[in-house]
Amino acid sequence: MHLIDVQKTFKSDDECVEHLAKLRWPDGVRCVTCGTDKVKQYASPTEKQPGRKIYQCQEPTCSQQFTATAGTIFHDTHLPLTKWFMALSLIVDAKKGVSAKQIQRHLQIGYKTAWYLAHRIRKAMEETGSPLLTGTVEIDETYIGGKTIRKTNRGLQRYKQKDAVVGMIERGGQLRFRHIGKGSATAKKVAPLVRELVDRNVERVVTDESTIYPFAFDGFCASKHETVAHKYEYVKLGTDIHTNTIESAFSLLKRGILGSFHQVSIKHLPRYLSEFEYRFNRRERKGEPKQDMFTETLRRMAKAKPMPFASLIAAETPEPF
Ligand SMILES: [Zn+2]
Repeated sequence: MHLIDVQKTFKSDDECVEHLAKLRWPDGVRCVTCGTDKVKQYASPTEKQPGRKIYQCQEPTCSQQFTATAGTIFHDTHLPLTKWFMALSLIVDAKKGVSAKQIQRHLQIGYKTAWYLAHRIRKAMEETGSPLLTGTVEIDETYIGGKTIRKTNRGLQRYKQKDAVVGMIERGGQLRFRHIGKGSATAKKVAPLVRELVDRNVERVVTDESTIYPFAFDGFCASKHETVAHKYEYVKLGTDIHTNTIESAFSLLKRGILGSFHQVSIKHLPRYLSEFEYRFNRRERKGEPKQDMFTETLRRMAKAKPMPFASLIAAETPEPF
């Protein structure tokens, strides 16, 4: 669903709540506390959430009152749901991502609100229980981050401490990005990720000639390892041995981080990586039906747990622009 369709379909908060209730409880409303379907609906709005319908559990031992957004990622939001829906359509439609600044401008809301909103949508995009990568899997690493200035005894010193990200992609299949921390990617850091994300019966694993991979694959998939020497060639002559697929995924990520986010706080990098992975894995592909990312994400949001602002920022403030 594109922004224009979202605006046409969901004109009021009521229409949004109605839609969320259907996604949250496809088989009818259930009590959020005890799970019974004996639930009565009141139309009376509260002062805090005007227009939002209240449900009341009819189980005498429970009697819980709740709304369709209670206990979800929308919990306690003061932002109209129509704006949430618009923000979601902007995010799922933007190949390289959308910055909080862009959301702020499009929706005419405060920067902090836009930032918090985007992170909660991102949270709902985190994948769990994804299938292992198989077939031909390309693996590579990249570095993200910029200059830092640090005070030393000799004055201000500028140095670069980048963060390593490992990328793996099954050709014609899914992508995985993992943040592995500051400094260089090493075999020790990469090995457990390979075991976590790649199928033991993978046909081939393709990398460049970096020395970390033979060690990382040792005892797992070393016999399936093919390399391309980037010093001389991009594709091993006469073969399909290359890492072009993972490299183009990295370049999309980097253009997103530079172009849309300007500056990504490393603390939040894993969530940005999840967002990219999520969108990339649902991209339009030839011969495959187009995926309704808007509805899928909204369904996840209608079921996801709340993410309080305090837990998101912990000891950090939103990155400045
Ligand atoms: Zn109940």
